[in-house]
Amino acid sequence: MSAKKVIPYKIYLEENELPKTWYNVRADMQNKPAPLLNPGTLKPMTAADLAPVFCDELIKQELDNDTREYPIPQEIQDFYKMYRPSPLVRAYCLEEKLKTPAKIYYKFEGNNTSGSHKLNSAIAQAYYAKKQGLKGVTTETGAGQWGTALSMACSYFDLDCKVYMVKVSYEQKPFRREVMRTYGASVVPSPSDTTAVGRKILEQFPGTTGSLGCAISEAVEVAVSNPGYRYVLGSVLNQVLLHQSVIGVEAKTAMDKYGIVPDMIIGCAGGGSNLGGLIAPFMGQKLRGERDYQFIAVEPASCPSLTRGKFAYDFCDTGMVCPMAKMYTLGSGFIPAPNHAGGLRYHGMSSILSQLYHDGYMEARAVEQTKVFEAAEQFARVEGILPAPESSHAIRVAIDEALKCKETGEEKTILFGLTGTGYFDMVAYEKYHDGQMTDYIPTDADLEKGFAGIPKIDL
Ligand SMILES: *Cc1c(COP(=O)(O)O)cnc(C)c1O
Repeated sequence: MSAKKVIPYKIYLEENELPKTWYNVRADMQNKPAPLLNPGTLKPMTAADLAPVFCDELIKQELDNDTREYPIPQEIQDFYKMYRPSPLVRAYCLEEKLKTPAKIYYKFEGNNTSGSHKLNSAIAQAYYAKKQGLKGVTTETGAGQWGTALSMACSYFDLDCKVYMVKVSYEQKPFRREVMRTYGASVVPSPSDTTAVGRKILEQFPGTTGSLGCAISEAVEVAVSNPGYRYVLGSVLNQVLLHQSVIGVEAKTAMDKYGIVPDMIIGCAGGGSNLGGLIAPFMGQKLRGERDYQFIAVEPASCPSLTRGKFAYDFCDTGMVCPMAKMYTLGSGFIPAPNHAGGLRYHGMSSILSQLYHDGYMEARAVEQTKVFEAAEQFARVEGILPAPESSHAIRVAIDEALKCKETGEEKTILFGLTGTGYFDMVAYEKYHDGQMTDYIPTDADLEKGFAGIPKIDL
C-alpha cells in the first residue's frame, strides 16, 4: 500500500474521552419536528397522555425540543464502556480496491453481542424503566436486532422483557429468537392470538407474515394492560435519536483528534435512529451555520419512505393504537413485498429526520437489494467485516460516491455508518449467492394503496 498512513486504520478514544452527554439536535432546529398527536382529539400528546405507554423520564426526553445536552447517567456510561468506543475505521483496503482518491471512514456499531447500534438506546431505556421501579417492558422486533439488544439490557437491570417478533422473522431467524431467550426474554410471533389487536389482524389478514406496525400494536396493548409494564421502541422516536447521538459524538471526537473533516456522511435509514445519531453533532454545526456537510439517507427501493413517501401525520402502527407522528410515510398499512430481505422495512421515518429532509438539510437515495448485497460482499472481502444487509445500504452509496470521486479526481472524505453484522442474515446472503434474489420496486399504484390509509388531517 502506497499511501502514507498518518491516520491509523482504527481510531480509538481513551476511556476518559468517551461522551458524557447525548446531544439533542432538536435544540438547534429552527423548524422543530411536529409533535405527536393524540389520534382521538388530534391535540399534541402531553406527558400525562403518554404516561400509560412510556417511562416517565423517556417522555421528558421525547417532548424536550430545547435542552441541547443531556448528561448520560453514570450507570449507562459504565455499561457503554463494556463495548464502546465503537471503532472508527479508515477503509484503506476498500479505497485501494476501488482505486479511489476518496478517503473512506466507517463507524462500526456491530462490536457487541446484539450485533448492532440498538444496544445504545436499549440500555438507556432499560435504565429509566428500572429507575421508575417498573417490572418490565414490552416491545416489537423485526429482524431481531432490537429485541436482542433489549433482552441484553433488561437482563443487565433485571427487568422482564416481552418481545413481539414479526412472524416471518420468528420463523426465518430461529437463532435470533434463541439469543433473546438466552438473555431471559419471552418471544411471541406477531400477529398472535395473545392480544385483541393481534386477533383482529389475523381475522382480517389470515396467513399474514406480519409487519413491524402490527407487532408494535400488540406490544403497546400488552404494556398498557399490565400494571408495572411500559412499552419501549428501538427507533423512530426522538428519545432514541437522542441516545444514538453517542455514535456521532464519539465519531466527531475521534475525527477532531486527527483533524479529519468529512465532506459527506452516509447512513442507512429504517426508522432513522442510527443515521440521526451519527449525523447529530455534524448536523448541529450545519444548523448553526458553522460548517456545511452533505448528509445522505439510504433506504431500500422496496420501502422508499423518504424518496417516494408523503410528509404527513400518520399512524405509527397498523392497529392505530399509537399516537400519530408527522413524518415521511408510505401509510401504516404498507407491507413490503415478501422478497424484501434487507431490513429497513418500517413504513415511516423519524419526525426529526423527516423535518430535516423536508427543509433541505439532508438528501435521500433509494437502492435495490441486489445492488446492496453486491456492495456487502465487496466490502466483506476487503475489509473483513460481514455487514448486516441494513448497513450495506450505506456501503452501497459510499462505494458509489467513492467511484464518482475516481471519475472526477476529487479527494472527498466520506464517513458512513456501519450499523451491524450480518451473521443472522445468511438466508438472505444465500439467496443472493444462488442468484435467487430479486428486486422489487413498488409501482405508483402499489404505493397509492398505502397512501389511501393516511388519515386526512388539516392542521
Ligand atoms: C435496526 C437496524 C437498522 C435500522 O434502524 P434505524 O433506526 O434506521 O437505524 C440499521 N442497521 C441495523 C444493523 C439495524 O439493526
